[in-house]
Amino acid sequence: MAYVIAAPCVGNKDSSCTLVCPTEAIVGLPSDPQLYIDPDLCIQCGLCVSVCPVAAIYPEEDLPQPWLDYVRLNRDYFRKLH
Ligand code: SF4
Repeated sequence: MAYVIAAPCVGNKDSSCTLVCPTEAIVGLPSDPQLYIDPDLCIQCGLCVSVCPVAAIYPEEDLPQPWLDYVRLNRDYFRKLH
């Protein structure tokens, strides 16, 4: 289980989360619609949740139902990179 960035990040990309993540698990290119969390790097510390101004980040198991597809979106983003 990892943390997941969901719909509220789309179009926002505040990026405060990238500054507090101890494992540099959160990335996104300028051309990407949102930021993404690498499930292989996330240590589930929760630091990113408290700094996100739009409440876009959730533990996978607590993700609101309408955003369940973001588990796959975050995971697939890194499959394409590797
Ligand atoms: S929960 Fe911790 S390790 Fe995982 S993405 Fe957020 S800040 Fe990084």
